[in-house]
Formats: sequence, C-alpha cells, structure tokens
Amino acid sequence: MGSYRRPDGLDEALALLAQGGWQVMAGGTDVFPARAHRVAWGNPTDAAWLDITAIPELRGISRQGDSWRIGAATSWAALRDADLPPGFDALRESARQVGGRQVQARGTIGGNLCNASPAADGVPPLLVLDAEVELASARGRRRLKLHDFILGNRRTARAADELLVALHVPAERAQSRSVFLKLGARSHLVISIVMVAADAAGRVAVGSCSEVARLWGDGALTPMDDVRGSAAYRHAAAAELVARAQARLAA
Ligand SMILES: Cc1cc2nc3c(=O)[nH]c(=O)nc-3n(C[C@H](O)[C@H](O)[C@H](O)COP(=O)(O)OP(=O)(O)OC[C@H]3O[C@@H](n4cnc5c(N)ncnc54)[C@H](O)[C@@H]3O)c2cc1C
Repeated sequence: MGSYRRPDGLDEALALLAQGGWQVMAGGTDVFPARAHRVAWGNPTDAAWLDITAIPELRGISRQGDSWRIGAATSWAALRDADLPPGFDALRESARQVGGRQVQARGTIGGNLCNASPAADGVPPLLVLDAEVELASARGRRRLKLHDFILGNRRTARAADELLVALHVPAERAQSRSVFLKLGARSHLVISIVMVAADAAGRVAVGSCSEVARLWGDGALTPMDDVRGSAAYRHAAAAELVARAQARLAA
C-alpha cells in the first residue's frame, strides 16, 4: 500500500509536490480505473497519493472582477447545479452528461482537463468560453490559455510539481447563449464519439475528432478509427452536430 496525504492548505500540497513522487488525485474517477487496469495486467505499482479535495482554494465558482473563477476541484455536480450566465449553459450541459450521478458527484473539472483525454467533455465548452488555466507550484503561479495547456492525448503543459488551481473565464464571453451536443453509443453513461459546444457569438468547438478538441475552422479535424466509430463516421457526425447546434442557437 502506498502512502496517502490529504492536505487542507495549498502551500502544504505544493511543498509535497516539490519533493516529487506524488500522484495527484481529485475525484479519482480517471486515476483509479487506470490503476485497476494496470494491476489487472500485473503491474501493481502503488503511487503515493496526494488527495487535493480538502483544499478550499480549489473549490467553488465565483465572479471576480471581469472574469469567472472555477476552482479546479469543483465537481461536475456543483457545475451542473450552479446558477451561471448563459455562456455556461454548454459547460453545465456537459456536466449533466458526464458519466452518471455518482461520477458527477466525485469527478472534477480540473481532473477532466489534466487527464487530457481526446473525449474529455469539459474541453469544447471551455474552448468556446476562451478559458484560461491557472497553475501553481512552490516556484510561483502562471496562466495559460486552455488550448496551450492541453498538448495532446494525455499530455498537458503541467509540470510535475504544479497543481491546476483554477479556470478563468472572461465575463463578457459568458453572456452569449451556448449549447452542448454529445453523440455516444447510447444516451447516458457513455464516452463521446463526437461532442460539440457552440455559442451565439459564433464560436464552435469539436471534441473526440482530433487528439485535442479544437475550435471549428481552426485546422482540419483528424478523427481516429476506433471501436466507437470510424474516422469517416466521426467527420459526418461532427458536421451534423455543428449544424444542429447552430440551428438550436438560431431558433
Ligand atoms: C463510469 C465513468 C464514466 C465517465 N464518463 C465520462 C464522460 O462521459 N465524459 C468525460 O469527459 N469523462 C468521463 N469519465 C472520466 C472522468 O470521470 C472525468 O474525466 C473526471 O472529470 C475526472 O476528474 P477526477 O477529479 O475524478 O480526476 P482524477 O481521476 O482524480 O485525476 C485525473 C488526472 O488529473 C490529475 N489531476 C486531477 N486534478 C488535478 C489538479 N487540480 N491539478 C493537477 N493534476 C490534477 C490526476 O493526477 C490524474 O492524472 C468517466 C469516468 C468513469 C469512471
């Protein structure tokens, strides 16, 4: 059994991370299935777990001057139920469609971004919102645009000693109505084959059709063939979902 720490202050968490050897966990809904998979295949390596869910600064949604701040360890359930302006409708809809109620209660928006799956439902709505991520380490803080943070399939710009602390969304972006549409093999508890977020200001982002979700028109989609759908199917489905999202916003 590896060690486990659950600090209640950000400085303590960052000091531990600076020592090295810790695996960050928030809701655990990505890291634990991945660990179970490793163990099943004969690699029982146990990490030292750094649980960040007791750090108040990492939770909650608030308006701060000309932007909205979302703590990285804010759960999908908190996002789903939050009273927010219409630009967040797409993000709240994605929260309603992530896994089931149990996953929404445990899983966090920060975990979704740091896990950096091409099928991460939180990414397209946050690209449309032009979100920035705030990273902290014992060395200091920095901010990056979301599209500069997620670099590829399971790759981010986060250094090993950094925590994702919060997301920041310009308040002006949060005013445009927005929608989120997700295509899966069934209606609930499903990984996206394609998902689309769009707002009334004309920004559209497509996920699951390239290593990293991207703004529509910002380079060609490069969907892969896998068990969930062929590249050709994903291309066609993305175009259809974009058209439906735009029609819904126009209605
Ligand atoms: C049954 C099931 C259904 C699911 N359905 C969906 C779905 O429909 N759509 C979808 O997008 N995802 C889905 N997921 C995946 C998962 O629930 C989400 O990606 C969730 O948001 C992950 O958040 P978490 O807090 O549980 O992350 P964790 O598992 O705790 O962490 C994920 C990764 O991020 C790192 N990390 C977490 N927080 C931070 C932080 N603040 N700073 C630095 N690193 C951090 C961890 O080290 C780890 O590498 C599903 C998972 C399960 C088990």
